[in-house]
Amino acid sequence: MASWENCMSELAAVCLIGDELALSFGDGTELYLLLPMLRRACPCAQCQGEPDAMGRVRRPNVEYGRGAFVLNKFEKVGGYGLQLFWGDGHGTGIYSFTYLQKLAAIA
Ligand SMILES: [Zn+2]
Repeated sequence: MASWENCMSELAAVCLIGDELALSFGDGTELYLLLPMLRRACPCAQCQGEPDAMGRVRRPNVEYGRGAFVLNKFEKVGGYGLQLFWGDGHGTGIYSFTYLQKLAAIA
């Protein structure tokens, strides 16, 4: 996936349309991602778990409270990703553009 990332041009716009986040890039690529799917895919250690000493990742049981699927705001992180801040106060997940592209492909 590294080559894809290298080819990725700058993020041009991010729009919230209903319950979808729409991203468009300078090269004309567009991604549409549903907020509940994005939240469930939050890449932070709290949501996805961290590998233990044996390298096994145990996925924590994440509870989604009120506002969990409401996007409060987002911030660009460097030139490679987006940090999403959710209505329940959760905001530690940084979604790289590569990861977002993968999510859009499987959605
Ligand atoms: Zn998270």
